[in-house]
Amino acid sequence: MPIQSFIPPQRVLMGPGPSDVSPQVLQALSRPIVGHLDPLFIGMMDEVKQLLKYAFQTENEFTIAISAPGSAGMEACFVNLIEPGDKVIVCRNGVFGERMRENVLRAGAEAVVVDDEWGKPVSPEKVEQAFNQHPDAKILAFVHAETSTGALSDAQRLSQIAIENGALTIVDAVTSLGGVPLKVDEWELDAVYSGSQKCLSCVPGLSPVTFSAKAIEKIQSRSTPIQSWFLDQSLVLGYWSGEGKRSYHHTAPVNSLYALHESLLMLKNEGLENAWKRHADMHQKLRSGLESLGFTFVVDEASRLPQLNAIYIPEGVDDASVRSALLENYNLEIGAGLGALAGKAWRIGLMGYAARNENVSLCLRALEETLQQ
Ligand SMILES: *Cc1c(COP(=O)(O)O)cnc(C)c1O
Repeated sequence: MPIQSFIPPQRVLMGPGPSDVSPQVLQALSRPIVGHLDPLFIGMMDEVKQLLKYAFQTENEFTIAISAPGSAGMEACFVNLIEPGDKVIVCRNGVFGERMRENVLRAGAEAVVVDDEWGKPVSPEKVEQAFNQHPDAKILAFVHAETSTGALSDAQRLSQIAIENGALTIVDAVTSLGGVPLKVDEWELDAVYSGSQKCLSCVPGLSPVTFSAKAIEKIQSRSTPIQSWFLDQSLVLGYWSGEGKRSYHHTAPVNSLYALHESLLMLKNEGLENAWKRHADMHQKLRSGLESLGFTFVVDEASRLPQLNAIYIPEGVDDASVRSALLENYNLEIGAGLGALAGKAWRIGLMGYAARNENVSLCLRALEETLQQ
């Protein structure tokens, strides 16, 4: 058989990302390509910045989308803000906190790890303790919405602790942006990164980031060059702003940026507060259905993410065969457990365009019928 064009089925994506992408965003993706320095495209990039500022609730001038997935946004924050020898307090309550620690070590810095159990939020008391023991720590890094467990941490409180200790914050908002309140300016967060394919419901491959004035100052006062050329944000700045004289840094993923523009516009038109409420409402609906099927949640109610529902797999049920039955019989994807929760939990995402009544109903019906067999 000769290789033919790839025609994927229409799946319903209710895992930890990518999430469902709306037809409107897919349409934007297929519009004609223009040059990446075309004045019309540059105008669109300016709008993407404006729309991102709204999504992040910030006036930060440096608010752009990095041309690579969320992991690149993560790495960009670490390599730009950290210098070799710096001390960084890293909160670890799931997979992504561990990745932060890896980034700290690879940037030649020292990581002070604050551990919390998987499924629990980051403990502010433990972070305070860590600062007491390490008053020379320059940065506090934590994950706002831990996608591996479904736990939401108190970003505002953690940021206050960092400020009281003269430290900057690096915040993973990959899953939180657009799904739960995230207020970069009000909470005084310094370097925040996200991803296009979670609650923004865009195609994967872009990472929105925003840096505060304090973060920019730290970057500008570095005594060592940033080890990554591609992620050196001082070089990217000329491409994303450059005051009328934009210079080439790398070729922007033109059509993906059309898609991001469209998904951010949809968020703006819906209104952030409405989007947060929709995620919360759909979560309540899914939750009551899951509970009547006998499921229990991994995370306590107080710190449960609406957009990522981690539930224990019932005793005697085979993880992989249920997930493949959902995919084959219902075109429905849910997420497997990750790390410490592998084989023990499922992760049901209600992210962005996927946070809809139809999806909740389909998921509950599919789970019920599949478990009956
Ligand atoms: C998905 C995710 C990432 C990584 O994003 P990619 O786009 O997969 O590189 C980082 N942090 C969290 C919390 C995530 O959920």
